[in-house]
Amino acid sequence: MKARYHVALSAALSLPFLFIGEYWMALTCLLFGALIDVDHQLDFYLLFGRFTWNITELSEELLEHNQPTFFCPLHSLEFIISLVLLSWRFDMFVGAVVSVTVHLITDILFNYRKELDLLRVSFLYRARGELRLYEQFRQSHQQPKETVK
Ligand SMILES: [Zn+2]
Repeated sequence: MKARYHVALSAALSLPFLFIGEYWMALTCLLFGALIDVDHQLDFYLLFGRFTWNITELSEELLEHNQPTFFCPLHSLEFIISLVLLSWRFDMFVGAVVSVTVHLITDILFNYRKELDLLRVSFLYRARGELRLYEQFRQSHQQPKETVK
């Protein structure tokens, strides 16, 4: 889903926290849901060879180039589990758990409709596949070594 919709959705999700007086939860809900796309920076760099701080460019350029796999470490079940563990100690992260979970679900529904693979929710699963692709790329571009006799 595009960055501007994530910002709007995160703002809407933070409203119930505001109404019940949980201002820190509302803040983490808004910030985490909107800023999680910063982790596209790694994939953007791998694809374009440069960094960008334009959030629209970060979230939408990658989708338009239809990159088959993404590292995106924050778009993962592992990150949500980390936030759940953090929220046991610090209540304010309950807002982050809600917005990051909804962010991930909407990304899956809107970005991966054609190739829905729920295992891809796991960063470790994705990274393993991604590393394999890079390994295949490196092997196919290596010059065959001549054997000296
Ligand atoms: Zn996203």
